[in-house]
Order: sequence, then structure tokens, then C-alpha cells
Amino acid sequence: MTQPTPDALREKIKQRLSFYEDLRIAPFYRDRRSTTPRALPPDTAATQNPEEDLTLPKPTSKTAKSATLAPSEPSAFVGAQHAAPQLATRSSVSDALFPAPPKTSNFFATLPHVANDTLLNIREDIGDCTRCRLHKKRNHIVFADGDPNADLVFVGEGPGADEDATGIPFVGRAGKLLTQMIEAMGLQRKDVYICNVVKCRPPENRQPESDEVTTCSPYLVRQLEVVNPKVIVCLGATAAKTLLETDMGISKFRGQWLDFRGKKLLATYHPAYLLRNPAAKSEVWKDLQKVMAELGLEVKKSRPA
Ligand code: URA
Repeated sequence: MTQPTPDALREKIKQRLSFYEDLRIAPFYRDRRSTTPRALPPDTAATQNPEEDLTLPKPTSKTAKSATLAPSEPSAFVGAQHAAPQLATRSSVSDALFPAPPKTSNFFATLPHVANDTLLNIREDIGDCTRCRLHKKRNHIVFADGDPNADLVFVGEGPGADEDATGIPFVGRAGKLLTQMIEAMGLQRKDVYICNVVKCRPPENRQPESDEVTTCSPYLVRQLEVVNPKVIVCLGATAAKTLLETDMGISKFRGQWLDFRGKKLLATYHPAYLLRNPAAKSEVWKDLQKVMAELGLEVKKSRPA
């Protein structure tokens, strides 16, 4: 015989459902999808990466957008040993996706599509957020930067001091390196969309905690649904593990095409990691070249001038 639900538990469930209402994801608990973990990809990433870092699943992309992307200036990021990209003349690359790393959560799979959602709606829903402890010390909520119709989205971990001070993602040292990476791809910051897993700065630049990620990441999922890019690049383990909902280390799947709700996702190392480990830049450059090929940006084999 089923036991009656205790009042305390009832109250907890009520509060949790009202929290989901706040997030505009209330219906998800009525519509759970099956999310059987898939087989592991072969571990082809030979690099040893100490950047082990977080998680979540999958739907469809929009029709091709025109690749009206600026011609590239080879940037300092590329360095002498790397090739310079040029403006796209063709679209390319295999559609093959690697099997996703095994999931440790199905939370994102349960998030419903918010009808007629817009970035403005999402920002308004975030409001002057106090949903997690990160609000206490923040100066600015860092929502995003760049083109809301971008084919390419970069997802970082969370704001640092410079981002907290300005309200703009990736403007500090790591941000400057990201800008160089984008320019090395033949793009400009304004051509891509840049956002983070959490929108408030974790104190002392610590990694966001799992409850902070769980609270904030539905807004990221909504941003990705609205922007609907062709490619999502996760910068670092927090972004990769969050979106893929896995605990597997990023070095196991870095540089492989994976699926996130019907969009192509590729994880690479975080620019902050590259600042500490410049030798890993060549791996990241290979990853970015894959992205360029996927977006139809010509990947020139010769060195930049
Ligand atoms: N690191 C991140 O992950 N995001 C930022 O916005 C800045 C630094």
C-alpha cells in the first residue's frame, strides 16, 4: 500500500515546482525522455590534461545561415607553426558524431522547449537573480556577448573579476586569448556568441558548485536553443561536462564531434588553461580548425604571413 506523502516532503516538492515555474520549465517533469547512456568513444585524445572539470543532452538545428564572416588576420594565438584560416568558400567536413560520453544526469533532456523564447525573455527571467549564493558577491550578471544569430557559440565556465566588473564575458586575460583564437579562425568577436555556464562570478574564481550549475544552466540551455548555432564549442571541462552531463574528463572527448540537443558540440581546452600551458595551444588550434571546416571557413595549410 502506498504511504501518504509527509507534509514536509509535500512542501519541498511544492517549492521545487514553483522554482521550475520561475525557470519556465515547469512542464518538464511530465515529459521525461529516455536517456540510455551510449557507448564510449575510443579514447583518442593522447594529451594529458590536468584540466579535469563537470555535465547534461539533445534536439535540432536551423537551416544553413550564410557564412558572411570576416576575412582573417592571423593572430598571435596561431603562432609561427600554425596555419591561417581564410574566408569560407565551401562547406565541408564529415557529419559523423562520436558517441557521447556516459551521462551522470538527465536533467537537460527533461527541459522543454520554451515556446517563442527570446534572449530578452531569458534575460528578463534571470532578472536580478538571487537563486543561488553567487549573487551575494557579484557586481554584474554576465549574460552574453556577440551575435544572437551566430553559427558558432563559445561556452565558458563563469565570469572572472574583469567580467564581473564589466558585465561582459571573456574580457580578462583568458578573454583576450579567446579573442585571438576567434580572430585566428578568421572571425571577429561580433561574429560569434559567447556565454557561460554560470552568470555570476564564483568567489576567488573557484569552480561553480553543482547546485549553482544546476540553478543557472537551464538559462544557458535556453540561450543555446534561441541562438540555435551550427556549432557549440565548450571551453574547458566545466562547460563540456555541464552540457554533456558527464563526469568523464575532458581529455577523453576533447576535439571530437558530439551531440547536444541536435547540435554539434566540440569541447576544447579553456583559454585560462592555455595561459598556464601554452604547449596545449596546438591541440586547441586543431580543434578550432575542425570547427572552421564545419562552418565552411577555409582552413589554409600554409603558415600565416
Ligand atoms: N572564464 C570564463 O569561463 N568565462 C568568462 O567569461 C571569463 C573567463
